[in-house]
Amino acid sequence: MRSNLQKKLVKAMTVNHHDYSRLVGKLEARRVNVLKYQGDTTVDFRALKKGVFCTACGERLVRVNRNLFRCGICDETMPILEVAQRLIEEMKILNRSWTLNPVSIQKFSGGQISDFYIRKYVKGGILKY
Ligand SMILES: [Zn+2]
Repeated sequence: MRSNLQKKLVKAMTVNHHDYSRLVGKLEARRVNVLKYQGDTTVDFRALKKGVFCTACGERLVRVNRNLFRCGICDETMPILEVAQRLIEEMKILNRSWTLNPVSIQKFSGGQISDFYIRKYVKGGILKY
């Protein structure tokens, strides 16, 4: 997932002395949301670590106000709408058979984004499944 890429890279690259600072950008440029040979994960939805994470460093994001999340580590702020849409894309990538609705998205966000909020913006056509 995009949101835990940075953490994975730091772990994977600890004994690697090559410069990988440009790798995230390169992967990002080649990212596709639907893959032809994609398999659904066998991970149980209930067993997943839920929450919203920083795309820059992988840390858990903290809700600042009704519109923004902030990362406590790199001070990056992210609009809640953007985070919500990313959660939807991540759920679709993980398993296309999972039910996408305001309640399941609220659960996947670790309770950080309310189902009321999701419902409102899906209805308004701003968030899309
Ligand atoms: Zn961060």
